[in-house]
Amino acid sequence: MIYLDYSATTPVSSDVLDSYIKVTKEYIGNPNSLHSLGEKSHELLTSATEQISKVLNIKTNEIIYTSGATESNNLAIVGYALKNIKRGKTIIVSKLEHPSIYGICDYLKTLGFNIVYVNNDENGLMDFDDLKEKITDDTLLVSIVAVNSELGIRQPLKTIKMIIKKKNPNCIFHSDMTQAVGKVSVNMSDVDMASISGHKIYGPKGIGMLYKNEKINIEPIIHGADNTMRGGTPSLPLIVAFSKALRLIVENLSKNESVVKLLNEKLNDNIKKYKDIKINKTSYSIPHIYNISLMNIKPETFIHALEKRDIYVGSNTACSSAKLSSSAMALFNDETRASTTLRISLSHMTSFEDLNKFLYSFDVIYTKLSKLGEKK
Ligand code: PMP
Repeated sequence: MIYLDYSATTPVSSDVLDSYIKVTKEYIGNPNSLHSLGEKSHELLTSATEQISKVLNIKTNEIIYTSGATESNNLAIVGYALKNIKRGKTIIVSKLEHPSIYGICDYLKTLGFNIVYVNNDENGLMDFDDLKEKITDDTLLVSIVAVNSELGIRQPLKTIKMIIKKKNPNCIFHSDMTQAVGKVSVNMSDVDMASISGHKIYGPKGIGMLYKNEKINIEPIIHGADNTMRGGTPSLPLIVAFSKALRLIVENLSKNESVVKLLNEKLNDNIKKYKDIKINKTSYSIPHIYNISLMNIKPETFIHALEKRDIYVGSNTACSSAKLSSSAMALFNDETRASTTLRISLSHMTSFEDLNKFLYSFDVIYTKLSKLGEKK
């Protein structure tokens, strides 16, 4: 199997899986129980949380465990909007967000909130002047994705935070860091709240976290028996596994990044030979996400042809049923280009041998489908 869809999800690293199994077997107590089994689980929960706080350089009370980035995004944006509804009704987001953010915006519209979209330039960079202009006293929160999931465009979060705070110091800055953490270095002090997901960093599915600066008040969206930000018994095995996955991926970041850069160069050197294929890459794209538009071939046909050879790549439809990639539209405003995207996402686990095999199969399939006139 050749897996090149790491931005959709990653396999769980074996060290992380070992921890998950060990904790499942050996820590059966509920961390909230008063007896010694509960205490033992509670101690492990505390040390996993302390580890995350060290890795991200934040306080332990700034970590809220969730089921993943979709829930973190909901908790941050809906939670903040509901808590502060008397202060304002406007939320600003970019045109390069993950579909989960747009789902939240649609929901907030039904509650009477105004959603404003900030423009980007042709390289995907936020239009700082447009952002400045759109922030008013009514703006509660700005949410800008740190790395876009389809095209891999990275935003300068520190600069964006400065612009926001200068215009309206009460306006909160949330960033969906799902595709950034573990791929590029991130700094929680660049934002007020950030969403992270376990299954994008070689951890298990069903766990993530929201970083929330301790000074910020939000309304819980899952209410439970106790007075916490998220009701329910904490999943100790998932939390310990997530904490370990985060530590490992951050510790190995620069080593992994240099491998991915070389893979990306090789991929790009080969793909740029196809004159009809558009490479959806700008100076802000990170090397882990390589996006192309096939232009005259349906991406579904191409993906299934690769699948027959046991090769797996992504398209924009993994996260959304939309036929058009909203991110590609935001950059290129070209329907053919936005409806024929293919995402090849790389990892430090990708071998050059596998990449060569992929490139060989890519060429065979592309040549065949082009000749067959497998038109869009
Ligand atoms: N945000 C971004 C940028 C993503 O790439 C994804 C996953 N595709 C999500 C949010 C949703 O993450 P999760 O699956 O953990 O809910």
